[in-house]
Amino acid sequence: MTTATSAQHRIRITRAVRERLEQEARAAAPFECCGFLAGRGDLIHALYPLRNVAERPTVEYFADVREVLAAFRTMRARGEELLGIYHSHPTSAAFPSVTDIERAYYPEAVYFIISLQPALDLRAYRIISGKVEAVAVEIVEGA
Ligand SMILES: [Zn+2]
Repeated sequence: MTTATSAQHRIRITRAVRERLEQEARAAAPFECCGFLAGRGDLIHALYPLRNVAERPTVEYFADVREVLAAFRTMRARGEELLGIYHSHPTSAAFPSVTDIERAYYPEAVYFIISLQPALDLRAYRIISGKVEAVAVEIVEGA
């Protein structure tokens, strides 16, 4: 499979959403948190936390299906698009695990991983057909 040459390699996120991400990750630890990131164009301005119902929530995530559907309804009502999917790595680096890559069901979304340990780190990726590409994250002030 080839990907479009216009594939996005940069995404913008408001500082408020960046801070919420860190709060969600810290509150969920030692479990992973997960959720949707929504907005318009290439700017993420909304965060939808989703319950992590994975069997081993310290090392994987799987969002509650009913909460996923509810989030899609709210996004549609607000005229937002699903731009990103986030989860945390409480004790490992911000790089997708084998499971993360296998379960990357939304090729159009940017996958955000926030790591708490060994260092606080936020990174984003496109994961398409098992291929991982880094996406640059730009923090937008006052949006
Ligand atoms: Zn992961």
